[in-house]
Amino acid sequence: MLNAEIVQLPCLKDNYCFLLHDFDSNITAVIDTPDANAIEAALEARGWQLDYILTTHHHWDHIDGHEALKQRYNCQVIGPRLNENVIPDIDQRVEGGDVLQLGGIDIQVIATPGHTLGHVCYWSQQLEAVFVGDTLFSMGCGRLFEGSPAQMWQSIQLLRDLPDTTAIYCGHEYTQNNALFALALEPDNQRLLMRCDEVDILRAKGLPTLPTNVQQEMQTNPFMRADVVGLQQALGMSGADPAAVFAEIRLRKDQA
Ligand SMILES: [Zn+2]
Repeated sequence: MLNAEIVQLPCLKDNYCFLLHDFDSNITAVIDTPDANAIEAALEARGWQLDYILTTHHHWDHIDGHEALKQRYNCQVIGPRLNENVIPDIDQRVEGGDVLQLGGIDIQVIATPGHTLGHVCYWSQQLEAVFVGDTLFSMGCGRLFEGSPAQMWQSIQLLRDLPDTTAIYCGHEYTQNNALFALALEPDNQRLLMRCDEVDILRAKGLPTLPTNVQQEMQTNPFMRADVVGLQQALGMSGADPAAVFAEIRLRKDQA
């Protein structure tokens, strides 16, 4: 039986990174490094060393702390092979389908091109958790800086295929803003209305709206719902190719 903990750590303006600790092996990993000082303080407060950095993608607010943390802890930096030339200090290159063993924690690498071409997500079936970087947000998804809408729709379907109860840990707290866009598309979606109320209450208290989970996003996130009849109707795209519907939703959000 795995005895592990996930710590969700707010960083910078609206980033999150995550500490993953296995108590039996005393192994700790961090997923992305928006702020080395914040990560170091969180590790020190718990008496943990840092053994691994897992990188979702190469944007600065996900890799900024790599160098300082590697210097301090001599940890292994793991990241996607496809963008390895723009990720600093990388030691181990991974791609979709790879399996990592961090102490007693098994991690599967899922390739999710779209936001960047090399973007990967890290899924722990044991912990029922997936770390999605900037691929998916609650009620939203990452902007398409490098990939096509069809690629991103494919990537999002891989996340949709994970078990319903899988907790989704996202790279940013964008939920409240995303909720306004989602509601404009589906004003009669009851699950969405309930989620928006919950989000408003949490944010009024300064609390995170994350993690979310697969089932909740399938019910409320328009980017997960490009093949849902009601949403296609709302867009005037009944029966259209879901990838085209996804592209239209992304376009509208970019222009919102
Ligand atoms: Zn990014």
